Amino acid sequence: MADPRVPTVQIVAIGTELVLGRIQDTNSFWLSQQLTDLGAEVRRITVLPDILEEVIPALQGAADDGVDFVVVTGGLGPTPDDLTVEALARLLGEGTYEDRSLLEDYMRRRQIDEDELSPGLRKMATVPESAVVWASPAGWAPCIQIKRLETTFFVLPGPPREMEALFDRYVATAISESLEIKSAARRVFVNMSESECSPLIEEAMERFPGLYAKGYVALRSDTHMPVDFVARAASDREARRMLSDAIDLFSAGVKGLGKDIHY
Ligand code: AMP
Ligand code: MG
Repeated sequence: MADPRVPTVQIVAIGTELVLGRIQDTNSFWLSQQLTDLGAEVRRITVLPDILEEVIPALQGAADDGVDFVVVTGGLGPTPDDLTVEALARLLGEGTYEDRSLLEDYMRRRQIDEDELSPGLRKMATVPESAVVWASPAGWAPCIQIKRLETTFFVLPGPPREMEALFDRYVATAISESLEIKSAARRVFVNMSESECSPLIEEAMERFPGLYAKGYVALRSDTHMPVDFVARAASDREARRMLSDAIDLFSAGVKGLGKDIHY
């Protein structure tokens, strides 16, 4: 019986200044708090220099591990040492292109013509061919979203304010949506006391992870006590199936004690 799915995440912070101890990696700290608060499970945090031979295998390794999301920060700036886009393109085995919507955003915000776009701005608008690109509300480098095997990568710029703004606007929403779990609930009635009933409830909850069951003493009639079952799973079908299997198990236990159950 499937557990309600909790999305798994790896964080990768890229920047030579981080491994040299010149700048503290506050991005990973902030991201791990946010991701945990959202309900995701952070499995690993990696800090790497701006070196392709380090970055490419680390990103490949995260995809091979099969985590649902990888949140990468750093290496999206305008200078030649910023290599994250090249690493992504090589990982995917594809080329890069200048994203038109980003160039237009830069021209509008800077009030410049196309021939006035600096090489730095053009570099920040350059992304892997299969990327989905989200413009920044707080800076120039975008959030780049790509998929590799089962893993979705969100690549964010290093400056904390820009990283946080993009995370809040795009990444948090995507991760929250993946958290969506389905539930199915049903109330049954048994002619039992709470202490007679509770071992059967415990047994059902142990047997079905994702199941919540509770008897309501305060709502009992002269003869019967209501017992609620709530099953939570990744799909409606799984939730309904878990609910029906759990109630079957519970009902067999009730009848085994010579008691009756009705719905
Ligand atoms: P970037 O050009 O995207 O590599 O990032 C530019 C700047 O963001 C760096 O010079 C740092 O000051 C800052 N920065 C990058 N990564 C981090 C991090 N993990 N934690 C805190 N600040 C960072
Ligand atoms: Mg950098």
